[in-house]
Amino acid sequence: MKSPSEKVDPFDGVQGTPIRLENKGPLRFNPEPSTRAHAEGQPPIFGQGGRRVDLKNLSLSELNQFLESFGKERYRSVQILRWLYQKGAQSFDEMTNLSKRFRQELSQVSFISTLHPLRVEQAKDGTKKFLLQLEDGNRIESVLIPDKARLTLCLSTQVGCAFGCLFCLTGKTGWRRDLTVSEILNQILAVRKILPDKTSITNIVLMGMGEPLANYENTLKAIALMVCTDAFKFSSRRITLSTVGLLPELERLSKEKISFRLAISLNASEEETRSYLMPINRRYPLNKILAFCKIFPLRRKTRITFEYVMVEGMNDSSQDAKKLIKILRGIPSKINLIPLNEAPGIPLKRPSEEKVKRFQEILMEGGLTAIVRTSKGGEISAACGQLQAKELLQ
Ligand code: SAH
Ligand code: SF4
Repeated sequence: MKSPSEKVDPFDGVQGTPIRLENKGPLRFNPEPSTRAHAEGQPPIFGQGGRRVDLKNLSLSELNQFLESFGKERYRSVQILRWLYQKGAQSFDEMTNLSKRFRQELSQVSFISTLHPLRVEQAKDGTKKFLLQLEDGNRIESVLIPDKARLTLCLSTQVGCAFGCLFCLTGKTGWRRDLTVSEILNQILAVRKILPDKTSITNIVLMGMGEPLANYENTLKAIALMVCTDAFKFSSRRITLSTVGLLPELERLSKEKISFRLAISLNASEEETRSYLMPINRRYPLNKILAFCKIFPLRRKTRITFEYVMVEGMNDSSQDAKKLIKILRGIPSKINLIPLNEAPGIPLKRPSEEKVKRFQEILMEGGLTAIVRTSKGGEISAACGQLQAKELLQ
């Protein structure tokens, strides 16, 4: 694990498509510690050396195999999933439709992890920011954003981020570690627990701290449980994953059966500006990302969302808007214009409202769908790119 002060290579964890928590061959109880995740100090899937298993780290099929490994029927996994994710059970005692003996057996080999908010801040616009403490002392943030009929939860996928985008405070802290499946899912459960009765989270966006595709395995496993009808039961249309555009992972994603909405952080209409704002563009350039988007298998009636953080004098001119129209031709798309959230230590400025409006008009005249998204929760540092600069470092 890197120390917080250590300089982080922005491309660390990108090259060679890291494969984590992948099991080769049939799953066994106490498998050899062969995964990279284990080498990096993450908990193994099944109890290593007598360690109990965090049930929320298991996919449905892993849970089936886990139960079978100590002689239990597969159908039990559905009961367990419902207790964990629909009823939010925090102990085996709550699982009253399982026999006492079975609950005892379960508690000997597994445990139910939880996350508790250390602090909840609320902005005037209703946005709430949750600071959550992880078992190893690291901290992450999740943001709950009410908007008309929607209640969107923005989840983190890593502690910090390795990509160092110039406009983003999360990137400034560097990467500490990937979140486990249970840490991603427990954000939803921790927030849901404090919601008033009859209020439910309607949408999930993976746009908090970290780059979800750099934590590919765990993020996809977590999404599978979000859409699983016996677990969270979210519609796949209500889950959005935002990425800087890691090409090997996008290619891998295009072959997966799982579906959700995809958002790509574009933030510029030409290579030089994008490389300046987002160093990863030197490895995965804009033209290659766009070429990939043209062949990305989208479900009917879905479009790729392109996020475009607007920075004064950098990417906000009429020429930039015209270039954007040109490069997005042929891609079913929607553009979210996000006026930069300024922050101390970020050497960039937000353009004027008129400039943003003019930019949007040009895109719309050019036939694109463009929406201005003013981030919510700015006064509590809960807006896009403002998460977790100082809280990580205790
Ligand atoms: N790592 C992923 C997801 C987390 S960032 C990604 O970069 O896509 C989520 C979004 O916040 C991205 O679109 C990013 O461009 C945007 N963002 C980051 N810093 C910002 C800032 N200071 N102001 C406005 N948006 C910002
Ligand atoms: Fe990381 Fe996304 Fe922030 Fe870039 S914008 S530093 S990829 S979290």
